[in-house]
Amino acid sequence: MIKVNHVTKAYGDQVAVNNLCFHIKEGETVGLLGPNGAGKSTTMNLLTGLIEPSEGEIQICGYDLLKDPKHAKAQIGYMPEGIPLYKDLTVKEFIGFMADLKKVPSKEKQNNIQEAITKTDLNEVQNKLIRNLSRGYKQRVSLAGALVSNPKILILDEPTVGLDPKQITQIREVIRNLGKNHTIILSSHILSEVSKLCKKVIILNQGKLITIDTPENLENKVKKETIIKLTIEGEKEKIENLAKTISGIETIEFIKDNEDGTKEYNIISKKDKDIRKELFSKYAKEQMTIFELKKIEVSLEEAFIELITKNKEEEN
Ligand code: ADP
Ligand code: MG
Repeated sequence: MIKVNHVTKAYGDQVAVNNLCFHIKEGETVGLLGPNGAGKSTTMNLLTGLIEPSEGEIQICGYDLLKDPKHAKAQIGYMPEGIPLYKDLTVKEFIGFMADLKKVPSKEKQNNIQEAITKTDLNEVQNKLIRNLSRGYKQRVSLAGALVSNPKILILDEPTVGLDPKQITQIREVIRNLGKNHTIILSSHILSEVSKLCKKVIILNQGKLITIDTPENLENKVKKETIIKLTIEGEKEKIENLAKTISGIETIEFIKDNEDGTKEYNIISKKDKDIRKELFSKYAKEQMTIFELKKIEVSLEEAFIELITKNKEEEN
Protein backbone atom coordinates (compact mmCIF):
# COMPACT_ATOMS: atom_id res chain seq x y z
CA MET A 1 0.00 0.00 0.00
CA ILE A 2 2.87 2.35 0.88
CA LYS A 3 6.36 1.76 -0.42
CA VAL A 4 9.24 3.97 0.62
CA ASN A 5 12.43 3.15 -1.27
CA HIS A 6 15.76 4.74 -0.36
CA VAL A 7 14.24 8.09 0.47
CA THR A 8 16.52 10.90 1.62
CA LYS A 9 15.59 14.47 2.41
CA ALA A 10 18.31 17.00 3.01
CA TYR A 11 18.06 20.67 3.89
CA GLY A 12 21.46 21.96 2.86
CA ASP A 13 23.92 20.05 5.01
CA GLN A 14 21.17 18.92 7.36
CA VAL A 15 19.94 15.42 6.47
CA ALA A 16 16.46 15.20 7.99
CA VAL A 17 15.70 11.73 6.60
CA ASN A 18 18.46 9.39 5.54
CA ASN A 19 17.99 6.53 3.05
CA LEU A 20 14.69 5.37 4.46
CA CYS A 21 13.17 2.07 3.26
CA PHE A 22 9.94 0.51 4.50
CA HIS A 23 6.68 -0.96 3.23
CA ILE A 24 3.27 -0.71 4.83
CA LYS A 25 0.46 -3.12 3.99
CA GLU A 26 -3.23 -2.34 3.65
CA GLY A 27 -5.06 -2.22 6.97
CA GLU A 28 -1.97 -1.89 9.14
CA THR A 29 -1.68 0.70 11.89
CA VAL A 30 1.98 1.59 12.05
CA GLY A 31 3.78 3.78 14.56
CA LEU A 32 6.63 6.09 13.63
CA LEU A 33 8.58 6.40 16.82
CA GLY A 34 11.55 8.57 17.61
CA PRO A 35 12.77 11.43 19.79
CA ASN A 36 12.32 15.05 18.75
CA GLY A 37 14.22 15.79 15.59
CA ALA A 38 14.31 12.13 14.53
CA GLY A 39 12.64 12.90 11.21
CA LYS A 40 9.07 11.78 11.90
CA SER A 41 7.33 14.90 10.61
CA THR A 42 9.66 15.08 7.62
CA THR A 43 8.83 11.46 6.76
CA MET A 44 5.14 12.24 7.02
CA ASN A 45 5.44 15.37 4.91
CA LEU A 46 7.25 13.29 2.29
CA LEU A 47 4.49 10.66 2.31
CA THR A 48 1.79 13.29 1.85
CA GLY A 49 3.70 14.88 -1.02
CA LEU A 50 4.00 18.22 0.77
CA ILE A 51 7.75 18.09 0.32
CA GLU A 52 9.78 16.24 -2.28
CA PRO A 53 12.55 13.80 -1.49
CA SER A 54 16.12 14.70 -2.45
CA GLU A 55 16.53 11.07 -3.46
CA GLY A 56 14.47 7.91 -3.63
CA GLU A 57 10.89 7.06 -4.54
CA ILE A 58 7.56 6.72 -2.79
CA GLN A 59 4.59 4.71 -4.00
CA ILE A 60 1.10 5.15 -2.61
CA CYS A 61 -1.42 2.46 -3.58
CA GLY A 62 0.60 1.73 -6.70
CA TYR A 63 0.86 5.40 -7.74
CA ASP A 64 4.28 7.01 -7.86
CA LEU A 65 4.06 10.10 -5.68
CA LEU A 66 6.44 12.09 -7.88
CA LYS A 67 5.14 11.01 -11.27
CA ASP A 68 1.45 10.79 -10.44
CA PRO A 69 0.95 13.06 -7.42
CA LYS A 70 -2.76 13.65 -8.08
CA HIS A 71 -3.77 10.02 -7.71
CA ALA A 72 -1.24 9.29 -4.99
CA LYS A 73 -2.25 12.27 -2.82
CA ALA A 74 -5.96 11.47 -3.19
CA GLN A 75 -5.43 8.32 -1.14
CA ILE A 76 -4.16 10.23 1.86
CA GLY A 77 -5.68 12.15 4.74
CA TYR A 78 -3.13 14.09 6.74
CA MET A 79 -3.37 15.48 10.22
CA PRO A 80 -0.37 17.76 10.76
CA GLU A 81 1.40 18.35 14.05
CA GLY A 82 -0.52 20.71 16.34
CA ILE A 83 -4.12 21.82 16.13
CA PRO A 84 -6.18 23.61 13.45
CA LEU A 85 -5.50 27.29 12.98
CA TYR A 86 -8.91 28.32 11.67
CA LYS A 87 -10.25 29.23 15.07
CA ASP A 88 -13.07 31.47 13.83
CA LEU A 89 -14.80 28.69 11.95
CA THR A 90 -17.25 26.31 13.53
CA VAL A 91 -16.30 22.66 13.67
CA LYS A 92 -18.62 21.87 10.79
CA GLU A 93 -17.40 24.81 8.71
CA PHE A 94 -13.79 23.78 9.17
CA ILE A 95 -14.48 20.20 8.13
CA GLY A 96 -16.42 21.54 5.14
CA PHE A 97 -13.47 23.76 4.27
CA MET A 98 -11.17 20.73 4.38
CA ALA A 99 -13.64 18.84 2.15
CA ASP A 100 -13.38 21.67 -0.42
CA LEU A 101 -9.58 21.67 -0.23
CA LYS A 102 -9.65 17.93 -0.86
CA LYS A 103 -12.14 18.49 -3.71
CA VAL A 104 -14.78 16.21 -2.28
CA PRO A 105 -17.61 16.15 -4.87
CA SER A 106 -20.50 18.35 -3.74
CA LYS A 107 -22.91 15.40 -3.89
CA GLU A 108 -20.91 13.60 -1.23
CA LYS A 109 -19.82 16.59 0.80
CA GLN A 110 -22.58 16.79 3.44
CA ASN A 111 -22.60 13.07 3.92
CA ASN A 112 -18.80 12.94 4.33
CA ILE A 113 -18.84 15.84 6.80
CA GLN A 114 -21.43 14.12 8.96
CA GLU A 115 -19.54 10.85 8.82
CA ALA A 116 -16.28 12.52 9.82
CA ILE A 117 -18.08 14.25 12.71
CA THR A 118 -19.61 11.00 13.91
CA LYS A 119 -16.40 8.99 13.63
CA THR A 120 -14.45 11.53 15.65
CA ASP A 121 -17.24 11.90 18.20
CA LEU A 122 -17.85 15.61 17.58
CA ASN A 123 -21.64 15.63 17.23
CA GLU A 124 -22.33 17.75 20.27
CA VAL A 125 -19.86 20.50 19.33
CA GLN A 126 -20.30 20.61 15.55
CA ASN A 127 -21.75 24.13 15.56
CA LYS A 128 -19.33 25.61 18.08
CA LEU A 129 -16.44 27.86 17.16
CA ILE A 130 -13.14 26.02 17.19
CA ARG A 131 -11.57 28.72 19.37
CA ASN A 132 -13.92 27.81 22.24
CA LEU A 133 -13.08 24.13 22.32
CA SER A 134 -10.68 22.27 24.58
CA ARG A 135 -7.44 20.97 23.13
CA GLY A 136 -8.79 17.42 23.06
CA TYR A 137 -11.73 18.49 20.88
CA LYS A 138 -9.51 20.63 18.65
CA GLN A 139 -7.28 17.65 17.99
CA ARG A 140 -10.29 15.60 16.96
CA VAL A 141 -11.50 18.43 14.71
CA SER A 142 -8.14 18.25 12.99
CA LEU A 143 -8.55 14.49 12.66
CA ALA A 144 -12.03 14.94 11.19
CA GLY A 145 -10.49 17.27 8.61
CA ALA A 146 -8.08 14.52 7.58
CA LEU A 147 -10.93 12.05 7.38
CA VAL A 148 -13.48 14.01 5.38
CA SER A 149 -12.29 12.90 1.93
CA ASN A 150 -12.61 9.31 3.15
CA PRO A 151 -9.00 8.48 2.29
CA LYS A 152 -7.63 4.95 2.40
CA ILE A 153 -4.59 6.12 4.32
CA LEU A 154 -4.50 8.35 7.38
CA ILE A 155 -1.26 10.02 8.41
CA LEU A 156 -1.44 11.44 11.92
CA ASP A 157 1.46 13.47 13.26
CA GLU A 158 1.69 13.23 17.06
CA PRO A 159 -2.06 12.87 17.61
CA THR A 160 -1.87 12.82 21.40
CA VAL A 161 0.78 15.42 22.13
CA GLY A 162 -0.35 18.08 24.60
CA LEU A 163 -3.51 16.24 25.60
CA ASP A 164 -4.49 15.27 29.12
CA PRO A 165 -4.94 11.58 30.00
CA LYS A 166 -8.70 11.60 29.45
CA GLN A 167 -8.39 13.31 26.08
CA ILE A 168 -5.65 10.83 25.13
CA THR A 169 -7.95 7.91 25.91
CA GLN A 170 -10.71 9.48 23.81
CA ILE A 171 -8.62 10.12 20.72
CA ARG A 172 -6.96 6.75 21.04
CA GLU A 173 -10.39 5.11 20.96
CA VAL A 174 -11.29 7.10 17.85
CA ILE A 175 -8.03 6.10 16.13
CA ARG A 176 -8.48 2.47 17.11
CA ASN A 177 -11.90 2.44 15.44
CA LEU A 178 -10.59 4.21 12.35
CA GLY A 179 -7.94 1.48 12.12
CA LYS A 180 -10.67 -0.99 11.19
CA ASN A 181 -11.26 0.75 7.85
CA HIS A 182 -8.07 2.69 7.17
CA THR A 183 -4.36 2.13 6.90
CA ILE A 184 -2.88 4.40 9.54
CA ILE A 185 0.56 5.82 10.17
CA LEU A 186 0.90 7.78 13.37
CA SER A 187 3.93 9.30 15.00
CA SER A 188 4.94 9.72 18.60
CA HIS A 189 8.02 10.17 20.72
CA ILE A 190 6.53 7.88 23.36
CA LEU A 191 6.81 4.12 22.94
CA SER A 192 3.93 3.26 25.26
CA GLU A 193 1.75 5.51 23.13
CA VAL A 194 2.38 3.73 19.84
CA SER A 195 2.42 0.30 21.43
CA LYS A 196 -1.18 0.77 22.51
CA LEU A 197 -2.38 1.36 18.95
CA CYS A 198 0.13 -0.21 16.59
CA LYS A 199 1.11 -3.78 15.84
CA LYS A 200 4.17 -2.53 14.03
CA VAL A 201 6.61 0.18 15.05
CA ILE A 202 9.22 1.92 12.94
CA ILE A 203 11.92 3.48 15.07
CA LEU A 204 13.70 6.51 13.69
CA ASN A 205 16.64 8.35 15.13
CA GLN A 206 18.64 11.13 13.52
CA GLY A 207 16.85 10.56 10.24
CA LYS A 208 17.71 6.87 10.05
CA LEU A 209 15.55 3.82 10.40
CA ILE A 210 16.79 1.89 13.40
CA THR A 211 14.41 -1.03 13.43
CA ILE A 212 10.93 -2.23 12.47
CA ASP A 213 9.27 -4.59 14.89
CA THR A 214 6.22 -5.36 17.00
CA PRO A 215 5.91 -3.48 20.30
CA GLU A 216 6.20 -6.80 22.19
CA ASN A 217 9.45 -7.74 20.49
CA LEU A 218 10.85 -4.28 21.11
CA GLU A 219 10.08 -4.58 24.79
CA ASN A 220 11.62 -8.04 24.98
CA LYS A 221 14.71 -6.92 23.14
CA VAL A 222 15.56 -4.43 25.80
CA LYS A 223 13.98 -5.80 28.95
CA LYS A 224 16.63 -8.37 29.61
CA GLU A 225 16.60 -8.33 33.38
CA THR A 226 14.50 -7.99 36.47
CA ILE A 227 15.60 -5.54 39.12
CA ILE A 228 14.53 -5.99 42.74
CA LYS A 229 15.00 -3.20 45.21
CA LEU A 230 15.88 -4.61 48.62
CA THR A 231 16.01 -2.63 51.86
CA ILE A 232 17.21 -4.77 54.73
CA GLU A 233 18.74 -4.70 58.20
CA GLY A 234 21.99 -6.55 58.86
CA GLU A 235 25.65 -6.95 58.17
CA LYS A 236 26.75 -6.17 54.66
CA GLU A 237 28.72 -9.36 54.13
CA LYS A 238 25.97 -11.58 55.46
CA ILE A 239 23.33 -9.89 53.32
CA GLU A 240 25.41 -10.32 50.21
CA ASN A 241 26.54 -13.86 50.89
CA LEU A 242 22.99 -15.03 51.43
CA ALA A 243 21.83 -13.41 48.21
CA LYS A 244 24.67 -15.11 46.34
CA THR A 245 23.24 -18.54 47.19
CA ILE A 246 20.16 -17.86 45.06
CA SER A 247 20.45 -19.09 41.49
CA GLY A 248 19.64 -16.76 38.66
CA ILE A 249 21.01 -13.67 40.35
CA GLU A 250 23.37 -11.74 38.13
CA THR A 251 24.38 -8.74 40.19
CA ILE A 252 24.08 -7.67 43.80
CA GLU A 253 24.49 -3.95 43.71
CA PHE A 254 24.92 -2.06 46.98
CA ILE A 255 23.19 1.30 46.74
CA LYS A 256 23.53 3.00 50.15
CA ASP A 257 23.39 2.92 53.92
CA ASN A 258 20.19 4.53 55.19
CA GLU A 259 20.05 6.72 58.28
CA ASP A 260 17.84 4.21 60.09
CA GLY A 261 20.57 1.59 59.86
CA THR A 262 19.08 -0.33 56.93
CA LYS A 263 20.92 -1.00 53.68
CA GLU A 264 19.66 -0.63 50.17
CA TYR A 265 20.45 -2.97 47.28
CA ASN A 266 19.45 -3.55 43.70
CA ILE A 267 19.39 -7.27 43.03
CA ILE A 268 19.44 -7.99 39.33
CA SER A 269 18.31 -11.32 37.92
CA LYS A 270 17.40 -12.74 34.52
CA LYS A 271 14.32 -11.30 32.84
CA ASP A 272 11.72 -13.89 33.72
CA LYS A 273 13.05 -14.88 37.10
CA ASP A 274 11.30 -13.37 40.10
CA ILE A 275 13.48 -14.07 43.10
CA ARG A 276 11.45 -12.17 45.69
CA LYS A 277 10.05 -15.26 47.40
CA GLU A 278 13.46 -16.86 47.72
CA LEU A 279 15.05 -13.67 49.02
CA PHE A 280 12.31 -13.30 51.56
CA SER A 281 12.57 -16.82 52.96
CA LYS A 282 16.39 -16.83 53.07
CA TYR A 283 16.53 -13.67 55.15
CA ALA A 284 13.54 -14.66 57.30
CA LYS A 285 15.34 -17.88 58.28
CA GLU A 286 18.28 -15.81 59.54
CA GLN A 287 15.84 -13.45 61.26
CA MET A 288 17.00 -10.55 59.18
CA THR A 289 14.23 -8.02 58.67
CA ILE A 290 13.35 -6.91 55.19
CA PHE A 291 11.97 -3.37 55.11
CA GLU A 292 11.26 -3.29 51.40
CA LEU A 293 11.31 -5.82 48.59
CA LYS A 294 10.09 -4.32 45.36
CA LYS A 295 10.27 -5.19 41.71
CA ILE A 296 11.38 -2.18 39.68
CA GLU A 297 9.59 -1.99 36.37
CA VAL A 298 11.89 -1.01 33.54
CA SER A 299 9.62 1.42 31.76
CA LEU A 300 8.99 1.21 28.06
CA GLU A 301 10.52 4.62 27.72
CA GLU A 302 13.78 3.50 29.25
CA ALA A 303 13.68 0.49 26.97
CA PHE A 304 13.19 2.69 23.94
CA ILE A 305 15.98 5.06 24.92
CA GLU A 306 18.27 2.11 25.53
CA LEU A 307 17.49 0.73 22.09
CA ILE A 308 18.33 4.02 20.43
CA THR A 309 21.52 4.52 22.40
CA LYS A 310 22.64 0.95 21.78
CA ASN A 311 22.20 1.31 18.06
CA LYS A 312 24.22 4.49 18.09
CA GLU A 313 27.04 2.80 19.99
CA GLU A 314 27.08 -0.13 17.58
CA GLU A 315 27.45 2.33 14.75
CA ASN A 316 30.41 4.15 16.27
P1 ADP B 1 10.53 15.07 14.32
O1 ADP B 1 9.18 15.27 13.71
O2 ADP B 1 10.88 13.62 14.48
O3 ADP B 1 10.67 15.80 15.61
P2 ADP B 1 11.48 16.55 12.04
O4 ADP B 1 11.14 15.70 10.88
O5 ADP B 1 10.61 17.71 12.31
O6 ADP B 1 11.63 15.66 13.33
O7 ADP B 1 12.96 17.09 11.86
C1 ADP B 1 14.05 16.28 11.54
C2 ADP B 1 15.29 17.13 11.38
O8 ADP B 1 15.22 17.91 10.20
C3 ADP B 1 15.51 18.11 12.51
O9 ADP B 1 16.88 18.14 12.81
C4 ADP B 1 15.03 19.42 11.93
O10 ADP B 1 15.72 20.48 12.52
C5 ADP B 1 15.35 19.27 10.46
N1 ADP B 1 14.39 20.01 9.63
C6 ADP B 1 13.07 19.73 9.51
N2 ADP B 1 12.47 20.60 8.66
C7 ADP B 1 13.44 21.45 8.24
C8 ADP B 1 13.46 22.58 7.34
N3 ADP B 1 12.37 23.00 6.70
N4 ADP B 1 14.66 23.18 7.15
C9 ADP B 1 15.77 22.76 7.77
N5 ADP B 1 15.82 21.71 8.62
C10 ADP B 1 14.67 21.06 8.86
MG1 MG C 1 7.53 16.24 14.45
